[in-house]
Amino acid sequence: MEALKSIIRDIPDFPKKGILFKDITPLLADGAAFQNMIEAFKARYQGKGIDQVVGIEARGFVFAAPLAYALGAGVTLVRKPDKLPHKTYKQTYALEYGTDALEIHQDALKPGQKILVIDDVLATGGTLAATALLIRTYFPEVEFHEAAFLMELGFLNGREKLGGLPVFSLLQY
Ligand code: AMP
Repeated sequence: MEALKSIIRDIPDFPKKGILFKDITPLLADGAAFQNMIEAFKARYQGKGIDQVVGIEARGFVFAAPLAYALGAGVTLVRKPDKLPHKTYKQTYALEYGTDALEIHQDALKPGQKILVIDDVLATGGTLAATALLIRTYFPEVEFHEAAFLMELGFLNGREKLGGLPVFSLLQY
């Protein structure tokens, strides 16, 4: 996994001053590294009965699709407002300045399904907390197996915001 770390590029002061942005595009562009990453997730979740892999817009989608394919699961999209065409449920959440929101189709998940949520980076945990609240509020009969991330910025203490939600990160920073 350390090999994956060496391919992820640090971009200082993006998208604003003081943020060290973890750029995954070199990893996505490296066929062998990308395959290794998806295989590592597959090894963890194969045989666990995952029905749906829920990807968070936008980079979560890049991981959700190949992992779902590898597991024989479906893909569910959690998107920014006004992107999904059918009836949606919505969860707003606080950002550093202002608020944002995430939406999911009302018919996206079925009672009894086991889901895995995936995104690229766990930073402050706000995005995952909103996604988990969205799912728990509107789909209470869905089993939340775990939230998976390529990397976790541990120094931001995102896990503390998640109320014990099971989280797995391939890489730790
Ligand atoms: P958060 O809600 O703070 O956990 O942030 C998670 C979302 O913001 C993820 O979807 C990431 O894509 C993005 N993000 C936050 N911090 C970074 C960072 N330092 N580098 C790259 N992406 C980030």
